[in-house]
Amino acid sequence: MRKHIRKFSSVSTMSDELHEECGVIGVYCNDEGRNASHLVYYGLYALQHRGQESAGIAANFNGKMEIRKDLGLAGEVFRGYDFSKLAGNIAIGHVRYSTAGDGTQRSAQPLAASCRLGEIALAHNGNLVNAESLREMLTDEGAIFHTTTDSESILNLICQHGSRGIEAGIKNAMSLIKGAYVLVITIGDKLIGVRDPYGLHPLCIGKLKGDSGWVFASETCALEALDAEFVRDVKPGEIVIADGEGLKSVEPSHWCRKKLCVFEMVYFARPDSVVDGVSVYEFRRKCGMKLAQQRKIEADVVMAVPDSGIPAAIGYAEASGIPYGEGLIKNKYMGRTFILPEQAMRDDAVRIKLSTIRHNIDGKRLIIIDDSIVRGTTLRRIVGHLRDAGAKEIHVCAASPEVKYSCYFGIDTPHREKLIAVQKSPEEICSYLGADSLTYLSEESLSEVCGDDSYCKACFDGNYPMEVPVNGGDSQ
Ligand code: SF4
Repeated sequence: MRKHIRKFSSVSTMSDELHEECGVIGVYCNDEGRNASHLVYYGLYALQHRGQESAGIAANFNGKMEIRKDLGLAGEVFRGYDFSKLAGNIAIGHVRYSTAGDGTQRSAQPLAASCRLGEIALAHNGNLVNAESLREMLTDEGAIFHTTTDSESILNLICQHGSRGIEAGIKNAMSLIKGAYVLVITIGDKLIGVRDPYGLHPLCIGKLKGDSGWVFASETCALEALDAEFVRDVKPGEIVIADGEGLKSVEPSHWCRKKLCVFEMVYFARPDSVVDGVSVYEFRRKCGMKLAQQRKIEADVVMAVPDSGIPAAIGYAEASGIPYGEGLIKNKYMGRTFILPEQAMRDDAVRIKLSTIRHNIDGKRLIIIDDSIVRGTTLRRIVGHLRDAGAKEIHVCAASPEVKYSCYFGIDTPHREKLIAVQKSPEEICSYLGADSLTYLSEESLSEVCGDDSYCKACFDGNYPMEVPVNGGDSQ
């Protein structure tokens, strides 16, 4: 979902100021008397790490949509809510990432509209690279927009060809939109899942217990929350439809090439998820092992920047023989990111979010592993706290290569000139962080962990899978 206005600063302790995208889920219950929105609500809890700005559910009761959405976490938006208002055996849900977007309730998802086929609701994860020209085209044709999101353009494009059926409408949209998109849609008696031709972001299919229905979700951790059985991942470019006749796949009619965002594996996805057949935890652990093989460091203990650095730190410890220990404890009650009205509050915020275990740090030579280094500002503060706690040496390791390029596909990376690896050499970054040494996972090591060429690694190597916007506009 493309964002337009940046309103606040925030601090993340999971990665170095890299922010989440969105999470989507859809549930189809075979029993028409069953309320699917309950299940979607549980699924949104499991996907909350993918976005904390807003949450919403659209319920489909015999083709009529009822929506509840608002700013806040799923638990806040639905606290005390009477779910009988969201009746229907089909429901879709969305969590949106924090810190960006126009920040209004209206832009929260799912989005809904009425078209020739009836009422339709849609939830979208990803960013389009031709959003501006699509919006201009649609506006010229007389479309009226209620939000600033590119998701609304997708909804418009689907509805444009609604008279020829929903499949034709979706195919029409897919032939015109460029970029990253995972969609869950409900219309009539159907739940529909769609993945872009590159499969940039994940979408999986699960089966509810006792063959009682279907789930489409951004990550497998949501299936687990619903006690649903994993069936398979949606293929790049595929449209999957669940209705009274079961599950139907509309194979892509156009060229597809899988390029899953490698940052899903490095940072975004939950470690207990399996994305396109690969365990996220194992991927991160292998990155840590590769780091240890790349360079031998004399140290007393390997520590992680929690949480996403933990599997890599465990892998590093295993491969190096240096014990793994905890040195940073995360305050679990602040959420993954939180809003800071003033820049000056950032330093305090990191201290509140991460506290040190002095006993494990004082007088020790530490290897501290983070999933990535984007701006370096948060990591610099962490290194400072570790020094204050008495660390004798601090060797920083990033479990991914230098981030040198911005993302245009839904991951909120800063503009290229703000990336520390663009501004400074590794030696200068090490000195900026206040560390004794700095090691990045090499691009070769990352490729070995990936095992094949089916990942987008453009943040590291600049090889975008498609043309990307120039100066913030559409792709050229
Ligand atoms: S550019 Fe980076 S963050 Fe964006 S999809 Fe590719 S790997 Fe992921």
